Amino acid sequence: MTAMIPVFSSPGQARPWQRELAGAVRCPAQLLRMLGLPQDLLPAARRAHRRFPLRVPHSFIRRMRRGDARDPLLLQVLPHQDELEAVAGFVADPVGDHAAERLPGLLHKYHGRVLLVTTGACAVHCRYCFRQHFPYGEANPRFDQWQASLDYIRADASIREVILSGGDPLSLRDDKLAELVAQLETIGHLRILRLHTRLPVVLPSRVDEALLGWLAGTRLRPVVVVHINHPAELDSELERALGRLRDAGVTLLNQSVLLRGINDDAEVLIRLSERLFEAGVMPYYLHALDRVAGSARFEVESRRARDLLVCLRNRLPGYLVPRLVREQAGAASKLPLEGKGD
Ligand SMILES: *Cc1c(COP(=O)(O)O)cnc(C)c1O
Ligand code: SF4
Repeated sequence: MTAMIPVFSSPGQARPWQRELAGAVRCPAQLLRMLGLPQDLLPAARRAHRRFPLRVPHSFIRRMRRGDARDPLLLQVLPHQDELEAVAGFVADPVGDHAAERLPGLLHKYHGRVLLVTTGACAVHCRYCFRQHFPYGEANPRFDQWQASLDYIRADASIREVILSGGDPLSLRDDKLAELVAQLETIGHLRILRLHTRLPVVLPSRVDEALLGWLAGTRLRPVVVVHINHPAELDSELERALGRLRDAGVTLLNQSVLLRGINDDAEVLIRLSERLFEAGVMPYYLHALDRVAGSARFEVESRRARDLLVCLRNRLPGYLVPRLVREQAGAASKLPLEGKGD
C-alpha cells in the first residue's frame, strides 16, 4: 500500500513536527528562564552542555513543573557538572556495540534480530544516553547506502526482525523511512519491523498521517517500543498519539531506564505501569543504567533495583511488571538482573 504519497510534503515545506523539532530548546539559560528557575544553575549546565549539548522540545518542557529544580523530566535533560568528572567503570561504549557492528550501522548481537542505526539524530538529549559518545558519523550510512545491510539481512534466513534505532529513527523523514521499509519488505524471511523511538513521547505531533500510512501499510508486523521513564511524561497529547498508533495496528511496548532521583521509587514505577496500560502500552524493559561516562549520578545500586522490583511484583498483575535487565557486552541477550547480588 503506497497511498500515503500525497501527504508527503515537498522538501521546502516542513511538516508541523519538523518545525517543532527545529524549534527545540538548545540553550540552558532559556530552559531555566522558561521554568522560572534560578540562573545560578547555569554555569555548570553550560560547561556540561559543551560536551553533550542540551536539546529538548517545547512539548516535553510543558510537562515539567515550573520552579522545581528537582522535576523528574527536567533532571533527564538538564546538563550537570558531574558529567565532566571521570568515574571509574563508566566508559564510552559500555554495551559493546562496536564489537557487534557487522557493517556500518548494522548491529547483530542477538539471534533472529538485527538493529539498524538509521541516524545519529535525536529529538531530545537524555543525559544518561548510552550512545552519547557513539561516533554516529561513521555508523550512519546515508539512506541510499543501505544496500550492504539489506544484502546482509537477505543472506541470513535466521533474521526475522529488523529493529530501526539510532539516535531516533523517527527523526528521519517519512519518505526515507517508507523507502527503507519497502526494501525490507522484499526480504521474504522478515516478519517483524520494530522501532525503538522516543520521538512520539517528546514530540507527539510526530505521529501524523504520513507516519501512520507506512506503518499501517507494511506487510511486516509493526512493533513500536517507546521510552517513557516517569508517569508525568504521559499527558493527554501523548496518550492521543499512542492511541493513533494502536489504532493503526501497532503493538506498543515501553522501555524505561532506572534512574536515581527520577524513578527509583516503587510508587512512581507502579504509577508508570498503570498509566502505560491505560494508554495501551505494555511495560517491557526496565533497564539498569548502562555505565556510560558522564552518567554516574543516575546509577541505582543493583540490590535496591531488585528490591524495587519485588515491590512491583507484590502490587501489580504480572503483565504490568517490566523485566529488569542489564546489557552486557558479549551476552546472547539482555540479562535479567535477578538472584545473586553484585
Ligand atoms: C536491545 C537490543 C536488541 C533487542 O533485544 P530484545 O531483547 O529483543 O528487545 C537487538 N539488538 C541490539 C543490538 C540491542 O541492543
Ligand atoms: S532518546 Fe534514546 S537515543 Fe535519544 S538521547 Fe535519549 S536515550 Fe539516547
